[in-house]
Amino acid sequence: MLNNQGRPTAPAASAEAPQRTFTTNRALQLEEGLIFEHGRVDVTGVDMDEPETFALRLGGLERMAPIGLPGLSEPEAMRHYVRLSQKNYSIDSGLYPLGSCTMKHNPRINEAMARLPGFADVHPLQPVSTAQGALELMDELSRWLMEMTGAHAVALSPKAGAHGELCGMMAIRAAIEARGESATRNVVLVPDSAHGTNPATAALIGFAVRSVPANADGTVSAQAVRAALGPDVAAIMLTNPNTCGLFEREIVEIAEAIHEAGAYFYCDGANFNALMGKARPVDLGVDAMHINLHKTFSTPHGGGGPGAGPVVLSERLAPYAPLPFTTRDTTGRALVEHGHATAFGRMTAFHGQMGMFTRAMSFMLSHGSDGLRQASEDAVLNANYVRAGLADLFSQPFGDRPCMHEVLFDDKWLEGTGVTTLDFAKAMIDEGYHPMTMYFPLVVHGAMLIEPTESEPKVALDLFIATLRDLAFRVARGETGSFHAAPVHAPRRRLDETRAARQPVLRWTPPRPIEDTMAAE
Ligand SMILES: *Cc1c(COP(=O)(O)O)cnc(C)c1O
Repeated sequence: MLNNQGRPTAPAASAEAPQRTFTTNRALQLEEGLIFEHGRVDVTGVDMDEPETFALRLGGLERMAPIGLPGLSEPEAMRHYVRLSQKNYSIDSGLYPLGSCTMKHNPRINEAMARLPGFADVHPLQPVSTAQGALELMDELSRWLMEMTGAHAVALSPKAGAHGELCGMMAIRAAIEARGESATRNVVLVPDSAHGTNPATAALIGFAVRSVPANADGTVSAQAVRAALGPDVAAIMLTNPNTCGLFEREIVEIAEAIHEAGAYFYCDGANFNALMGKARPVDLGVDAMHINLHKTFSTPHGGGGPGAGPVVLSERLAPYAPLPFTTRDTTGRALVEHGHATAFGRMTAFHGQMGMFTRAMSFMLSHGSDGLRQASEDAVLNANYVRAGLADLFSQPFGDRPCMHEVLFDDKWLEGTGVTTLDFAKAMIDEGYHPMTMYFPLVVHGAMLIEPTESEPKVALDLFIATLRDLAFRVARGETGSFHAAPVHAPRRRLDETRAARQPVLRWTPPRPIEDTMAAE
């Protein structure tokens, strides 16, 4: 129990499951079925007169049998979607400490800007003379991204971080092809601690992946990189700050070794939130890096998108940037769409996510360069505040030392208690917190990766820390039952996540044939 200063006050609740309800609703949290389960096939939300009979002109292709679309009245349809939306925990509801995801507040000014008709309604095929403002914004955004990273070019079109990785690696492949070395340089170095998308990207475009072991302190050493280098290496893919929340201190030396060996340096920049305004990756030797606008620059994410993962490129890779890109000619802004000999091609049909560009630009302009730098500093400060608030109870795999934008704990402190990282995360749900990232990075046993971001106020961090401390005391008191039972207050308890991933049920089958349903109505 917590009082309103967030201090533990009374012994923890017991592991009892809450009482069942007749409706299966929990207080004003309403259960919701699938839309098909609601639907009565002959009901419609549209209130229009039957059309006059007229001769069909479908040449015998008219539908003969019902296809089973759910029928709902307008209020039923409304309630269905609102109830579903209320099941979705979001950054607008509370703290969302999901490490590596940078779940920061999305300022509403961004939304207002993205809804301006000139941005919201722009069509990718309209004449460029009528989309000058949108092109100006894309150009300005590119300029800010290049300024912040020290890059020479930027590809705006990739639609997510992983898509950006693909874009950057395709630029690297094009550069290697241009040197006539594609037959011999076919290996990409990836440290153990990399985000899973890194080796996946390299493999997807035909590179072999060679892993580089991490040091005992969680970082990658230039020595380990040198040991893995050879004339067959095309690139390294390194995350900085890495997925353990640590800055790769030997990054400059690593970059030098990579370049000496004739290879390129891809940096996974999804964690740019810790560096923005402080260090320019291209100055550190990076050749290509994606930036998740939907993390660092507060464009909304979760629920599958849309995201945007622009890729910045060094001078060496700039010639291979994909099409299209913006330029200026005698009549104003223009788009280069064809006839650029070294561009490797295109990543998407059109120009990328205009709504995300607008939101990111709005975030940048409303913060200013000093505000962006402060956002990085506050993100790092907040992560370290959480670290310091938990360090005496939770174990840190690489010792008690400062982290960057996220803090990593392992499960050593849980050893022998009968409580696992998963149990602990489920207990957090009962306390009203979205769990942290668990079991990632893989190099750490039972990892708990917490990223509070800069947008959490101190009171929210204090309550979060107090809650986690209270749970830790509960572990220490041996109240393991409550952890194994958790979550008891959620609409669903523990789901079989493995089975859901391995044998997903993607098709709803009606309990009885649709024709029977129709007959019964
Ligand atoms: C989020 C993330 C990615 C992937 O970004 P998506 O937009 O989800 O594709 C890649 N690497 C790291 C380190 C990340 O945190």
